[in-house]
Amino acid sequence: MADPLAPPRVRFAPSPTGYLHVGGARTALFNWLYARQTGGTFLLRIEDTDKARSTDESERAIFEGLEWLGLNWDEQVVHQALGLARHQRDANFLLETGAAYRCFCTPAELEQLRKEAAARKDSFKYDRRCDLLAPDEIKRRVDAGTPFVVRFRVPHGETAWEDAVHERIAFPNKDIEDFVILRSDGTPIYNLAVVSDDIDMGITLVMRGDDHISNTPKQIQLYRALGNEPPRFAHVPMIHGMDGKKLSKRHGATAVADYQKEGILPGAMVNFLALMGWSPGGDREVMSLEEMIALFSLDGLQKKAAIFDTKKLEWMNGQHLSRITAMQLEPRLTSALLDAGIASREMLISRHEWYLGLIDLLKVRARTVLDMVRQAAPFFPGPIAFDPEAVEKQWKDRAASSGILEAVRNEIANLPSWTPESLEAALRALAEQRGVAAGKIFHPLRVALTGLSVSPGIFEVLIAMGPELAAKRLNDAIGFLNAA
Ligand code: GLU
Repeated sequence: MADPLAPPRVRFAPSPTGYLHVGGARTALFNWLYARQTGGTFLLRIEDTDKARSTDESERAIFEGLEWLGLNWDEQVVHQALGLARHQRDANFLLETGAAYRCFCTPAELEQLRKEAAARKDSFKYDRRCDLLAPDEIKRRVDAGTPFVVRFRVPHGETAWEDAVHERIAFPNKDIEDFVILRSDGTPIYNLAVVSDDIDMGITLVMRGDDHISNTPKQIQLYRALGNEPPRFAHVPMIHGMDGKKLSKRHGATAVADYQKEGILPGAMVNFLALMGWSPGGDREVMSLEEMIALFSLDGLQKKAAIFDTKKLEWMNGQHLSRITAMQLEPRLTSALLDAGIASREMLISRHEWYLGLIDLLKVRARTVLDMVRQAAPFFPGPIAFDPEAVEKQWKDRAASSGILEAVRNEIANLPSWTPESLEAALRALAEQRGVAAGKIFHPLRVALTGLSVSPGIFEVLIAMGPELAAKRLNDAIGFLNAA
């Protein structure tokens, strides 16, 4: 019996057959949070027994994805394929103790039995014919080199466990056929490899997607037959798209790396994934990694499928962007600005204080780093495009708009000092003088300065831009309006 007071040991066990999927990352995260909260150990096991489908590239993608999310693992990575000798030893132990038997039925014979069952409209279940072979007949076939698989003899009764998410789950054993644990080439089937590895790694809690629920009774039977107490199980809900169907590429990006490329912050991604099947209670949503570690509990895991809503992910990212400091955001934004050709490194270094101020100004309104890049463009010398919708709405009467922008340009050019207060006073006075509401000045001005209809406060924009660039933006806008 495992010591109930010993620190938990959990694992994430991906098959390296593709990229790191958001569902896998979510399972990894729950295991990681649990380990970090309980002072336990989080292990990574690469399930690479399927040689034909496993690739090094996919393994790298798993490492990189986990590292980007900040989900560091303890101890050495385990490669399932390296456990082959132990898997075979365990299968032999089960043969020797009578918990398993050799099955010499060929695929063609099994197919025939399947067909006969279908003709009787029965569901097929292996009829244990090889379990009835006499010992000397078995010996004769083994000695003659007849190929065989090893089948586990499913006991009578039922197999049940207290799932940490679903409460009690029970399967009648009569519904489970004597399943194969070792192929005729001596390689293990998934259920045997997983149980053998989880025992070897001292796993105390298996937390994984609930698509594995039907494997669990078989695994529990294997634990017992191998003389071990099964661990606890927690089957977390599947992730669905907005249409309620299982998340797939049809719904958009499902690789963690895609969101990394799109400029999602790892902290936001982790926060978003944590809420896919877990709730910290109340209506709490935005959390740092430390807060999630403190709040995580198996009790907060939910049964119902989680919905992957990319709009919510963007919102979450916006929340995280506004919470981190300009200094933390700087490296990320800098590389995005350089990639977009909006700023040069020299420019950002020589005006560093100004640049940090600009980040603070923009981060509260952005949802992604790419949003920030778009919003930052007007503050750098290159040309900007005027958003057609903003033009349509705020510059409807072109001649009048051009007149207003000229008046603004002249007014602010003559101001002895630029402060939010002096700019506001000057522009409000201008509105009064022209007999229009202040908005009639501010909105067209915003489009002229930024090309957009939303931006930070107009006075903050002017100050961040400075008199020279602001005058250039106004002249460009006036030129655009007069040419139209
Ligand atoms: N390799 C399995 C998968 O990727 C995980 C098995 C497990 O967690 O037990 O679905």
